[in-house]
Amino acid sequence: MDKTLIIFKPDCMKKLLMGTVLSHFEAAGFSVAGCKMMQLDSALLREHYAHIADQPFFPEIERFMASEPVVVMILEGEGIIEKVRDLLGPTDSTQAPAGTIRGDYGETVMINVVHASDSPESAQAEIKRFFSDSDFIK
Ligand code: ADP
Repeated sequence: MDKTLIIFKPDCMKKLLMGTVLSHFEAAGFSVAGCKMMQLDSALLREHYAHIADQPFFPEIERFMASEPVVVMILEGEGIIEKVRDLLGPTDSTQAPAGTIRGDYGETVMINVVHASDSPESAQAEIKRFFSDSDFIK
């Protein structure tokens, strides 16, 4: 079954929107295959956001992502990677259409509710980054 890695970002946690957002994923037929709460640190964020770690706005992203414990989740379902990205809408919440998660609940290009893997390769790497074998119920 296809899997993706989701992070309910600090704005989502602070606004008590995790359940609301998760209900969108569950309504689409996706189920939870792993879940944990984490305080993200600088080393993990630099690895996770390696593709933008040299951008001038990266320190702000780092501060934002470490500002509140987050919930990291593995979701599974047919074609889930693309479908979850469609449900989220584009990165910039101000450009995201109404009816998408970022369009309805996001604030800015940075404060945008949820992270979701963007390809099968990144999903596999991100699941390995955030979860270990001992996190799963056998
Ligand atoms: P996505 O999360 O949609 O895959 P990216 O991988 O490009 O987008 O960026 C990772 C995260 O970094 C975004 O979700 C957002 O929180 C933040 N971000 C991206 N671009 C900017 C920007 N220009 N200014 C501030 N934050 C940004």
